[in-house]
Amino acid sequence: MKRAVYPGSFDPMTLGHLDVIERAAKMFDTLTVSVLNNTSKSPLFSVEERVKILQKAIAHLDNVEVDSFSGLLIDYCREKELHVVIRGLRAITDFEYELQIAQTNRKLSAGAVDTIFLTTSLEYAYLSSSAVKEIARFGGDIRQCVPKFLVQQVYDKYKER
Ligand code: ADP
Repeated sequence: MKRAVYPGSFDPMTLGHLDVIERAAKMFDTLTVSVLNNTSKSPLFSVEERVKILQKAIAHLDNVEVDSFSGLLIDYCREKELHVVIRGLRAITDFEYELQIAQTNRKLSAGAVDTIFLTTSLEYAYLSSSAVKEIARFGGDIRQCVPKFLVQQVYDKYKER
């Protein structure tokens, strides 16, 4: 059984994330999308909210589940017996950062955890969670960036603030 995990902050998830999820789901028997609970960041959506949003977005995919984790990714992988990590690459700037993390994870896990990169679909190459937040903060149009059901939820977060 080929299983993989796609970890990330997903704050908020974007159509770029969904594209990576849909493509990875075709390559593996099961895919776990796991939200990192990063206590050093102050997120727009709570971990619980992000998990719910992802669950809604992947409802059409039979072999994908959503989870969350905190701490080191390799510890989570060991606990869940996962050996393949999926990450997305948009630009060369992603590559430098991702390469370092992938190599660190391989070293720390003594080779047990390897990383596979999916390059972005061109229409999403510009898309990032931080860009979505920046656009939404100033009331810009994010309909091309996140799933339809999520658009209002993102605007509402800024109204609450
Ligand atoms: P981080 O975990 O660094 O906060 P994100 O949660 O935003 O990053 O993203 C998780 C993963 O998805 C990362 O590997 C990131 O490079 C990738 N990703 C984000 N946006 C896109 C996109 N538009 N196309 C392809 N991959 C993406």
